[in-house]
Amino acid sequence: MAIRNIRTDDDEVLRKKSKEVDVINDKIITLLEDMADTMYEADGVGLAAPQIGILKRLVVIDVGDGLLELINPKIVEQSGEQIELEGCLSLPTIYGDVKRPAYVVVEALNAKGEKIVVEGEDLLARALCHEIDHLDGILFKDRAIKLIDKDELEKKRKR
Ligand code: ZN
Repeated sequence: MAIRNIRTDDDEVLRKKSKEVDVINDKIITLLEDMADTMYEADGVGLAAPQIGILKRLVVIDVGDGLLELINPKIVEQSGEQIELEGCLSLPTIYGDVKRPAYVVVEALNAKGEKIVVEGEDLLARALCHEIDHLDGILFKDRAIKLIDKDELEKKRKR
């Protein structure tokens, strides 16, 4: 198990486009394992490879229903909309209200190289969109309707 350093804020790597994974070798498997370890350690529900400085199309997600490891994930269908407060391990000082589809269908490969289809509603739909955005250098703050300072939000919640 290895915890990787999470890149934050203005780190340039967060703004780059990630490359498709052609070959699923031991290096990719280890990377997915490290990404999961890093996500759980940081108490996140998702992590994309660029967040640990690696420009490959790899995502891990766990919204409480078990670990999803996605290689070259692509949104192939989406419908509805939801607006919820969103945060990001790479933007530790802000939250924001972001409009996302209420339902998405994602195609990807799993760690065995098998094609999988993941259907997500609500939080899972949001996490899938958020993490796939990272692979294209897009951060939630680019899409946010309103940004909220984390300290301010915590103050409000205490009141
Ligand atoms: Zn994020």
